Amino acid sequence: MVLQRQASLEEDPLELLELPVPEPRPDEVRIRVTVCGICRTDLHVVEGELPAHKLPIIPGHQIVGMVEKLGSKVVNWSGGERVGVPWLYRTCGECRFCRSGRENLCDNPWFTGYDADGGFAEYMVAPADFVYRLPANYTDVEAAPLLCAGVIGYQALQATGLQSQGKLGLFGFGSSAHIVIQVARHRGLEVYVVSRTEKELALARELGAHWTGRIDEDMGAFLDAGIVFAPSGELLVEALKKLDKGGRIVSAGIYTTPLPGFDYSLIYPEKCLTSIAHTTRENVKRFLEIAAELKIKTQSNVYDLDDANIALLNIKRSKVSGSSVLRVG
Ligand SMILES: [Zn+2]
Ligand SMILES: [Zn+2]
Repeated sequence: MVLQRQASLEEDPLELLELPVPEPRPDEVRIRVTVCGICRTDLHVVEGELPAHKLPIIPGHQIVGMVEKLGSKVVNWSGGERVGVPWLYRTCGECRFCRSGRENLCDNPWFTGYDADGGFAEYMVAPADFVYRLPANYTDVEAAPLLCAGVIGYQALQATGLQSQGKLGLFGFGSSAHIVIQVARHRGLEVYVVSRTEKELALARELGAHWTGRIDEDMGAFLDAGIVFAPSGELLVEALKKLDKGGRIVSAGIYTTPLPGFDYSLIYPEKCLTSIAHTTRENVKRFLEIAAELKIKTQSNVYDLDDANIALLNIKRSKVSGSSVLRVG
């Protein structure tokens, strides 16, 4: 499913095309894709909230498939192994961020389905050092949402600083939040979930939310930390209003609408508003281990590859809860 030109999803911008099977470069592997999860970032790439890096482009960055062909220099994989490919496609390895363990902030990164063709396709190539073994206790469909929704949710949870106790707010309850709530509950955190849709609130209650409601409702308590998943600057400011002293709001999105002006009291005393960006390979590996250990469950709406436009539109219109996954091979 190829994006030739960024456009509103109402115009069915992704097109089913026949393309040559890609050949791996010396340090790459070719993957026969079985499923690819959908992320809100794909929506921003397709509709143009994120400027295009490469057109045409095949989106998709929560890929599960089988290694099919090895580049001439690849020694760490063999044919037939199941692997996952996330958003971080490749880093430069040379900038000061790469050299200090913060490759998520690399000066010259490539992202899957943005700078390089992704997983809304039967085949893709990826650098051998940037693909991952997946936990054996997950099917392909179950594993796909771990790769971005799960990893980014986990990274946001780490950024809140909450370990074993406290009140955590989740603002927006889509693919990422329905995974992170399970990690948070396992840590013993009390979780407060804000969403506009009853479907999402119902799923949050099912997964152990202590409180669920809309942003204008009284939570009955102030939060130690919150993670904002919805791409709304207004919601970020509203989330700050729910914060206790010394609390922290983490924005998990790659894009958000502008923030309205707000009173200093929303970040005083010692309240913090921050964001997380991309991820490191280390984080991906760590989260995949945690998911396997905690038996994190993912719930997905499964679509055929050629229904990618509909699947994305349903996310845009908040018509589905949990994750969405395209079945490819
Ligand atoms: Zn993503
Ligand atoms: Zn770098």
